[in-house]
Amino acid sequence: ATTFSGRKVALFGLGGSGLSTARALIAGGASVAAWDDGEAGRAKAQAQGVEIVDLTSADWREFSALILSPGVPLTHPEPHWTVARAREAGVEVIGDIELFCRERQAKAPGAPFIAITGTNGKSTTTALIAHLLRSAGKDVQLGGNIGTPILDLEPPSEARIHVIECSSFQIDLTPSLAPSIGILINLTPDHIDRHGTMENYAAVKERLVAGADVALIGVDDAFSHAIGARLTERGREGQRIYPVSAARALDWGFFIEDRKALYREAGHAPEETETLGDLEGARALRGAHNAQNAAFAAAAAWHCGLSCAEIARGLLTYPGLPHRMEEVGRRGRVVFVNDSKATNADAAEKALLSYDDIFWIAGGKAKEGGIEPLRPLFSRIAKAYLIGAAAQDFARTLEGAVTYEQCGTLDVAIARAAEEAALSEAREPVVLLSPACASYDQFANFEARGDAFRLLARELHAHAPIAG
Ligand code: ADP
Repeated sequence: ATTFSGRKVALFGLGGSGLSTARALIAGGASVAAWDDGEAGRAKAQAQGVEIVDLTSADWREFSALILSPGVPLTHPEPHWTVARAREAGVEVIGDIELFCRERQAKAPGAPFIAITGTNGKSTTTALIAHLLRSAGKDVQLGGNIGTPILDLEPPSEARIHVIECSSFQIDLTPSLAPSIGILINLTPDHIDRHGTMENYAAVKERLVAGADVALIGVDDAFSHAIGARLTERGREGQRIYPVSAARALDWGFFIEDRKALYREAGHAPEETETLGDLEGARALRGAHNAQNAAFAAAAAWHCGLSCAEIARGLLTYPGLPHRMEEVGRRGRVVFVNDSKATNADAAEKALLSYDDIFWIAGGKAKEGGIEPLRPLFSRIAKAYLIGAAAQDFARTLEGAVTYEQCGTLDVAIARAAEEAALSEAREPVVLLSPACASYDQFANFEARGDAFRLLARELHAHAPIAG
């Protein structure tokens, strides 16, 4: 990133993306002063030629910008003050995606750049778009809030498509965000802690689509719907806005009907609807929530010039993301599904809706609200196997409605669930880890919990295989 060539930039946060930002800035000829509470990050940065400075007492007249790493303000009260002081001194506060946007604007303004946001489904939609494009032979760079930090990717060019997941926090730090395709999947009142109010949160998300050449905007929730309507009314020159729905057939736009992804041009008759793909048989895209993600991904791929056949093929071959309804093994008729990413009832609901005959492993570090909201889905659960700190609380909710067993730990739970699922008469019993809890009581994070489940499922398979 050459934007700050010859100038001095402050950087707060030296995790993966902070370090990648430092590398890019230094390679582009800037000098970087940075801080992180962690000794490890500071040491790595220093080795990269970064000056370590306690930014709380920085003289902001020296700096051209303050660059914040995603996540910093969540763990640290200090950045608020640092940010306030920098702003007071007239120093702009931005993030790594802003550096990418300026580089693109300067060097390859027409380079294809797809930016994705929403309350839920960001990673799935981002990964699915990348998969569709790659399967069709495109040069794709995937990153941002998922996987590789944006400044570690290959630089933008006309022949290469950047597919970038953006959190609200990142959008907030990207004033020049103007993607060629902007996607707003959905907006629900989660995650508003950082943004204060729902209005604030929605306004931040709106910026991603407001700046896009092609805006793909969900119409299945009231907030996204209102944003689409507002931008359409505004009618910015050169912008094209398309509605996307997984809930109902639209007069025009991209939508799902009978598990098929469809496109109908404005003013065209229903007979002229194009079928972009069929989700029946797309193993990694089960459930209505994934139909929504698929509708957006198909729409983005269509705008990138893929044929219906290419989109259809890509939907079928999408392998899914780890820890999100990830099928990790089969033992006879029994399927083992790792949905460790489901750290709250809302996410677990999506998995419970996607299967029948569920042998459900749940529990961990409890979140507010417990599993009471899942009551309407209890009939899909053959039995529950409870683990972790929330087990007692969950048991109280299940009492009288779902048979359950206290298992304590994941290894006990999966062994018991596998044993009983094998005896089930169901066509396809599912041993599902969808804990509706954080993992911190027994695991480092949800990834470690999911990895443990995957390993245990494979061990079961190796030690007691049953011919299927
Ligand atoms: P994000 O990146 O926005 O957190 P992911 O694609 O990683 O989203 O999915 C995380 C979880 O959110 C999934 O396991 C599922 O429970 C739920 N989810 C995914 N897509 C959607 C959607 N379109 N609408 C509602 N919930 C979803």
